[in-house]
Amino acid sequence: MVASPLLADLRAVLGDDAVLTDPDLLRMHERDEADLCASGTPLVVVRPHGTDEVVGVVRAAARYGVPVVPQGARTGLAGAANAVDGAIVLSTVAMDRILEIDPVGRIAVVQPGVVNATLAGAVRREGLYYPPDPGSWESSTIGGNVSTNAGGMCCVKYGVTTEYVLGLEVVLASGEVLRTGRRTAKGVAGYDLTRLFVGSEGTLGVITEVTVALRPAPEASLTLVAVYNSTAEAGVAVAEIAAKGLTPSLLELLDRTHLAAIEAYQPMGLRTDAQALLLAAVDTGSRAAEDLARIAEVCEAAGADEVYAATDAAEAAALLQARRLAHPAMEKFAADAYPGGNGGLIIDDVAVPRGSLAALLDGVARIAEECDVPIGVVGHAGDGNMHPNIVVDRADPASLDRGRRAFDEIMRLGLELGGTCTGEHGVGLLKRDWLAREIGPVGVRVHQAIKAALDPEGLFNPGKVL
Ligand SMILES: Cc1cc2nc3c(=O)[nH]c(=O)nc-3n(C[C@H](O)[C@H](O)[C@H](O)COP(=O)(O)OP(=O)(O)OC[C@H]3O[C@@H](n4cnc5c(N)ncnc54)[C@H](O)[C@@H]3O)c2cc1C
Repeated sequence: MVASPLLADLRAVLGDDAVLTDPDLLRMHERDEADLCASGTPLVVVRPHGTDEVVGVVRAAARYGVPVVPQGARTGLAGAANAVDGAIVLSTVAMDRILEIDPVGRIAVVQPGVVNATLAGAVRREGLYYPPDPGSWESSTIGGNVSTNAGGMCCVKYGVTTEYVLGLEVVLASGEVLRTGRRTAKGVAGYDLTRLFVGSEGTLGVITEVTVALRPAPEASLTLVAVYNSTAEAGVAVAEIAAKGLTPSLLELLDRTHLAAIEAYQPMGLRTDAQALLLAAVDTGSRAAEDLARIAEVCEAAGADEVYAATDAAEAAALLQARRLAHPAMEKFAADAYPGGNGGLIIDDVAVPRGSLAALLDGVARIAEECDVPIGVVGHAGDGNMHPNIVVDRADPASLDRGRRAFDEIMRLGLELGGTCTGEHGVGLLKRDWLAREIGPVGVRVHQAIKAALDPEGLFNPGKVL
């Protein structure tokens, strides 16, 4: 039994307060936000404050052969942060310091537990901008965002997390500390190890410091809404906006199910009779009004029933807030859909080339009918990245089977359309089979070789990704 000596070693490294074994707390750290993914009960949750303490935790784990599951805020949607039985959960909540903001170099250096919105707010006060803005930005951490390569609403114009990660500090399974990347505007020395760790979902090491690139603060944005009687027409509008060379700073789609769910959750005056709503914004400064008018024209030409611009910043913010409510609103909608609050969601995250968005939306509607399950669709339409949310009755095995079949059919369709099984949520537990199909046997072997080289004993986040 390794528990007692391991706990004693962890207490020697971290002190008693940062080594937690309270059963309620252990339960709290069992899983992320992904419904219907397996999870285990950790032996202990540790909350290191700095790199040296993480090194101590990893060395102790290696000594006793106990797995380490890194956790940020556990907002993940693929089960990637789920504990395995007997593991050490390494929570980064106490590593929450912004170490540096350099307006000249346009970089910030942060510990991994810094919450996205905290960093975004701190750099905004310096006139700077950290664009990646997952819907969870008020709670998710930079370490989690980097480890999942998170996207968000601004990413259609500004790119996803990886575009902003310049360098990392990572504690390896050997207990050594690796520094990757740079602080400079340019730099090409060696293999791009930074990108190897971005999106690695805690399977290759513990990220203990992140150097991010910043941009000058953008101009104020103008926002419009286009209402459609079919989701596929909205998909056509998205492709046309791209084809015309327009660069919206936000281009999001909500389908009828989500509009109804949001209105039920928090009435906001959304058109619940519509099949789809496109939300678009531009932040092109003096050209913004002209660009918004061009997007409105494209939306109308694609068959919009109604197009209207937000009259002021407050209305634009309310529309954005409606989009941000999609996840909790849909969770409530699903829970209420079946007796006893037993409804659950299988959240999908498929990305296709923009030109194939309409085909994806049509296909999801067909799959919902064929599998006889309700599916609501929401997502980052401008990136071709949709979240078909499949509503299932957790208490009914037949409903779960139909939901899982729909999930697989959507994955299959996404790959057939030249897309990927995950645009931003990651592989975690949810999509291991689909990752293997997407990257093929050679891709799997290369993944396994990298894992074996960096983590030969399989210490970090076992069972995730591969
Ligand atoms: C309401 C809602 C909206 C969302 N919207 C979006 C969205 O728009 N775009 C998007 O991409 N995602 C979105 N997500 C998913 C989720 O918020 C992101 O995946 C986020 O990046 C996870 O961050 P976290 O801090 O919660 O990490 P966790 O969920 O705790 O962990 C995620 C993964 O990162 C690993 N990890 C965490 N910290 C470290 C570290 N320091 N070192 C090594 N590995 C680490 C974990 O092991 C795990 O594999 C949303 C989730 C919710 C609940």
